[in-house]
Amino acid sequence: MSAPTSTMPHVMAVYGRTPLAFERGEGVRLYSTDGEAYLDCVAGIATNGLGHANPVLVEALTKQAQKLWHVSNIYRIPEQEALATRLTETSFADVVFFGNSGAEAVECALKTARKYHAASGNPERSEIIGFEGAFHGRTYATINAAGNDSYIDGFGPRLPGYVQARFGDWDDVRAKIGPNTAAVIIEPVQGEGGARSLTPAQLVELRTICSDAGILLIYDEIQCGMGRTGKLYAYEWAAGSEPDIMCIAKALGGGFPIGACLSTHEAAKGMVVGAHGSTFGGNPLAMAVGMAAFDEIAKPALLDNVTKVSGYLRQQLEGLKDRYPDVVLDIRGKGLLVGIKMGPNNRDFMALAREQKLLIAGGGDNCVRLLPPLNITVEEAQEAVEKFEAACKAAQAKAAVS
Ligand SMILES: *Cc1c(COP(=O)(O)O)cnc(C)c1O
Repeated sequence: MSAPTSTMPHVMAVYGRTPLAFERGEGVRLYSTDGEAYLDCVAGIATNGLGHANPVLVEALTKQAQKLWHVSNIYRIPEQEALATRLTETSFADVVFFGNSGAEAVECALKTARKYHAASGNPERSEIIGFEGAFHGRTYATINAAGNDSYIDGFGPRLPGYVQARFGDWDDVRAKIGPNTAAVIIEPVQGEGGARSLTPAQLVELRTICSDAGILLIYDEIQCGMGRTGKLYAYEWAAGSEPDIMCIAKALGGGFPIGACLSTHEAAKGMVVGAHGSTFGGNPLAMAVGMAAFDEIAKPALLDNVTKVSGYLRQQLEGLKDRYPDVVLDIRGKGLLVGIKMGPNNRDFMALAREQKLLIAGGGDNCVRLLPPLNITVEEAQEAVEKFEAACKAAQAKAAVS
């Protein structure tokens, strides 16, 4: 075979990478290897929730690194028990399983849901209802749960037991629930799919549908959880919408790889000794960082900051929509998970933003997303808006000449 024409010949070519590399970060700033400073409104795709090189996280990591990194789940891990206690004290959940990524958290959620029905004497209840435009990760189960063709094609037969309904269309969900349905999995605010948000009333209605049908409700809050919407979890905006199972990851480790599947006692009743496991999951190093990140994110002042800055951002972006109606078509999302549907191609717009030293993420439905660290200040957000506007101007000028 001839070598692929790549400047990274030894890295599997699965990413469409921006030709930029960074050597240092501090808060909302990233410094590239060629010495430029960027304003980072990607934050590792909503992962560096507390910004880069956060001193509290650096301290937690380095302190634990001197003591103990890994022992495996053969033993009790006090740091894991402590973080699980904090996660359950502050949510609907009773128990937690720790993995190393979002997709692993979703895998655990899907297994927990199926096992619940098997343990209840209904092993035929294995079907999972997901939603169009969803994203749950890149493992076999998670790509089948989300149903995005471009992630599934070429990887062999589709897995049985997965169907998709239209996002927010509960009649479609009702029509797809049958005697073999195990669970519904949904992002309360879609991330990759273009920052589409469900209303509190919609979440409560979906909860009722699931309860009435005796099926489990799984929230994928990997992107919209951990303070991103201004509450610790997005479902808290809708009283009475608590799930049975929930996946979190991304900002939970502040950049350290951690995923967690949270569940009620009842929903996890089939997850007995031997039912599931992970070598790295929940190791002392990850748990020490996770605990520090969690405690910072759960602070009322931080969550208030998300609400304050996101209110400012939304108002400013509405202004841009009025001034650049061909560039900014729609503003979506919740809190600091901001989606902006673009007139010009979203990838082209991201390049224009980059020229202004502003980093933003892409998204489905020709959106760009702003996912800054949750501790971004209003002044920094103002700077982001100025750069975003400069990119809008450039996009408008480009459209005028073409
Ligand atoms: C990122 C993401 C995942 C997958 O997480 P990985 O850590 O990449 O496996 C799953 N669900 C949602 C909503 C996400 O945003």
